[in-house]
Amino acid sequence: MISMKVLAYLLLACAAFAQPPYDLLLKGGHVIDAKNHLSAVRDIAIQNGRVAEVASNIDPAKALKVVDASGLYATPGLVDIHVHVYAGTGMRGAYSGDNSVYPDGFTFRVGVTTVADAGSSGWRNFPDFKDRVIDRAQTRVLAFLNIVGRGMGGEATIEQDVDDMDAKATAEQAQRNRDVVVGVKTAHFHGPEWTPVERAVEAGTAAHIPVMVDFGNFRPERPYQELVTKKLRPGDISTHMYLDAVPMLDDEGKVRPYLFEARKRGVIFDVGHGGGSFLFRQAVPAVHQGFVPDSISTDLHIGSMNAGMKDMLNVMSKFLNIGMPLDEVVARSTWNPAREIQHEEIGNLSVGAPADVVLLRVENGNFGFVDVYGARMRGGQKLVCELTVRGGKVVYDLNGITREDWNKLGPNYKSQGDARWDATLGRTVRARK
Ligand SMILES: [Zn+2]
Repeated sequence: MISMKVLAYLLLACAAFAQPPYDLLLKGGHVIDAKNHLSAVRDIAIQNGRVAEVASNIDPAKALKVVDASGLYATPGLVDIHVHVYAGTGMRGAYSGDNSVYPDGFTFRVGVTTVADAGSSGWRNFPDFKDRVIDRAQTRVLAFLNIVGRGMGGEATIEQDVDDMDAKATAEQAQRNRDVVVGVKTAHFHGPEWTPVERAVEAGTAAHIPVMVDFGNFRPERPYQELVTKKLRPGDISTHMYLDAVPMLDDEGKVRPYLFEARKRGVIFDVGHGGGSFLFRQAVPAVHQGFVPDSISTDLHIGSMNAGMKDMLNVMSKFLNIGMPLDEVVARSTWNPAREIQHEEIGNLSVGAPADVVLLRVENGNFGFVDVYGARMRGGQKLVCELTVRGGKVVYDLNGITREDWNKLGPNYKSQGDARWDATLGRTVRARK
């Protein structure tokens, strides 16, 4: 005779055993995972915020929630290594405060789960940036520290202050924040000296992190050719690669050999589209001749997002329509940038990786894409984000593909999410089961 107590225990144990092990199963999407050399239809199972299994046919009974991803592309969460998100400072600067955006409103809706702020703050105001934005965002926000201590607080004055370019203080701040600071940035310099580049490289060397260069005003005293073939170290990043001022094509329209030499040395070329740094007349011939970006990035700020740049998927779509295969476009927006910033735990779908996963759709139609000089390129394909999962949680779902139809939920259904936004309280609250 079995006691009621033991019976109750057995029933509980059975219930626990029958509990599906996976929180979320994305079924039948075409997975593009450059790190694992995978481009094929696969199921992706997520558990406890991490990728738990990627396989051809995972039993739907093993998951609490199953999402039909057929016809969609499943990729790692996009990694945009050039954005400006030091918002809310009230500072009068082209990139800090006035022109920065808060990350969460602009990332998840286009599949971006990680951003790196490109030098909006320097070692002096980084703690304020961290407190104000980084620690509060759901997006994974990383940062390049500006070599200028006060960051991008004003191009005319602050960013020209060579005396405030302190390599030692910058390296120390980077090392105190190793989990968040991924590099050193120099930008917008007008003078003829190499000092900003040299100090940035000094700081990057001391802290074992890469340098990202926005060359500012191009000057004959410091040629771009010398920057990428001599001054930068392997692993350092030249952003704004399709800028007008970059000597790209010779008189016959051929990509200049020094660019391939620089790449051979290990210098990284990044898009950094922005409001002034991407021209079709540079990018199209360069891509067709094999001078492709190592990483695709937006240079997101209020100016660029409302002009030709728009968002990460729009920039990726430009490369798709220029003729780059989708697998390459995705690799250059996930695994490549993750490696460039030395965060190899992201940008891939290996088992155990953080479950930052995106479902993308390739839309066919008549589209137009605009560069920073207002020139249009027509194209027939456009990437759209259907679903963004960050750390295992659904953070954006365009068409409610993770949701149940309202008329199947009974007459008195309550909030269906794990969490919902409460406008009265101004915060996210747990939904009652
Ligand atoms: Zn920028």
